[in-house]
Amino acid sequence: QGLGRAGPSVTADPLLGGLLSPGFDDRSCLSRYRASLYRQPSLHNLSSHLVSRLRRYESLHQLCGPGTPAYSHAVARLREAMDGHASAPAPASSNSTSSSDPECSYIIWTPVEGLGNRILSTASAFLYALLTDRVLLVHHPADDLNDMFCEPFPGSNTTWVLPEEGFPIQGIKGLNVRTRESLGNALGRGEGEGSAPWLYVHLQTDYKPDDRRFFCDDGQDTVRGVRWLVLRSDNYFVPGLFFLRRYEEELVRLFPRRDTVFHHLGRYLFHPSNTVWGMATRYYSSYLAPAEERVGVQVREFKYARISADERYKQIISCASRESLLPAVDNATLPSSSDHHHHQEQEQEQEQETKRKAVLVVSLNGDYYDKLSSLYYEHGGAAGVTVSVFQPTHLGMQQSEKRQHNQKALAEIVLLSFSDVVVTSAQSTFGYVSQGLAGLRPWVLMLPVDGKVPDPPCRLASTIEPCFMRPPHYDCRTRGDSDNGKVVPYIRQCEDVSYGVQLV
Ligand code: GDP
Repeated sequence: QGLGRAGPSVTADPLLGGLLSPGFDDRSCLSRYRASLYRQPSLHNLSSHLVSRLRRYESLHQLCGPGTPAYSHAVARLREAMDGHASAPAPASSNSTSSSDPECSYIIWTPVEGLGNRILSTASAFLYALLTDRVLLVHHPADDLNDMFCEPFPGSNTTWVLPEEGFPIQGIKGLNVRTRESLGNALGRGEGEGSAPWLYVHLQTDYKPDDRRFFCDDGQDTVRGVRWLVLRSDNYFVPGLFFLRRYEEELVRLFPRRDTVFHHLGRYLFHPSNTVWGMATRYYSSYLAPAEERVGVQVREFKYARISADERYKQIISCASRESLLPAVDNATLPSSSDHHHHQEQEQEQEQETKRKAVLVVSLNGDYYDKLSSLYYEHGGAAGVTVSVFQPTHLGMQQSEKRQHNQKALAEIVLLSFSDVVVTSAQSTFGYVSQGLAGLRPWVLMLPVDGKVPDPPCRLASTIEPCFMRPPHYDCRTRGDSDNGKVVPYIRQCEDVSYGVQLV
């Protein structure tokens, strides 16, 4: 398989310590059991409780997922309730996995924004599903998410993709902060606990104070008995779930180390399709495998943080040299010597101790690759290190509505996750996903200050967890503002987003 890693490929653990279920036909999804051959093994403990909850979730999904009698029943009841024929829905049973008469509840995730945002909100929705015994379904309104990910849950009788045809809730794409059925608007009207057939949970950046009550007891009480929830979020809202007392005990059992939530859920849920896996592994074998060390550098540019390519390049170089991520260039290796014989000797000597570093540059922009590869083309790396620089694509601009564009973006996230060292860009969810899947604390290229390199140019993140960039900052008791970074000791202000909070 042409793998660069010596140890792990022999001892690799395809099921990741029990995180993954063995119940899949592995041809349908090559990445599922092969990621362990490429990625660093996880250094982060996996709780046996999480493993058993995942298996329990998988049984629930097999019982309630699309294609099952329970699913047809649940959809029929939803339709009746929406048509107003039915009597009030029965209260949620505490044991929804009972197979005699399963009463299934669902949370439908629907996409918004780029791939990084989508992956993080899906993982958050899944954790919520685990905590509340709901079945997670994903709504794929367009072609842009097809052939991206494998089915994460076993069971050939079912799927996690919402069958849209004949589904009673129409117009999911158009749901927004003003939608009548949103939780926030229901709470605003003073509607109490669970009589609605379905509710829309709006956790997007523009959410209002009443929408934020999803992270309060009254919000949770209101959705508890509602069998169908539709959720749209562009955020990693996992830290918000930790504010809810009712989930605290379970969350602590699932994640005794709180800073590994996305790392484990991400490795559990997101297996690239064979198409994407093919791109990532071909690239890896061709360019990255021969190196002893792989350094991934993700450079993201945001309109609100303008910086010239020259200045950004300076930032990368200054970060890399300050933190010894890349070797300094060695002018002595320039082929200036006229003593040919002597030079050959030197080369032979170097060959023996040469260490190869591969630098994977991932960006929409090709400039950084150009500059970095010229640097190491024109000069050798000092201290017997050869540096090769690669960049799979430079697509110019984001086009999240195009499938092939998203496939390439995912392949690059996956490639970054094979790195031994990662450098990411502040405030980028694309970067968060890569570091989470890699299980590495990244060196974060901080936002520019007035278009210039900030000081320091980069910082080693103190957690591998993504940032919840738009937390509620809402005080459930006073219904006023609050600072979510100061409520519990293990959730604090993000290092790269002052408004955001993260688990540490
Ligand atoms: P964020 O905007 O950095 O938080 O990340 P998102 O993934 O949510 O949105 C950015 C989108 O732009 C990605 O999903 C890709 O479609 C595209 N994109 C951004 N950077 C890259 C890159 O380095 N490589 C590729 N292929 N696409 C990128």
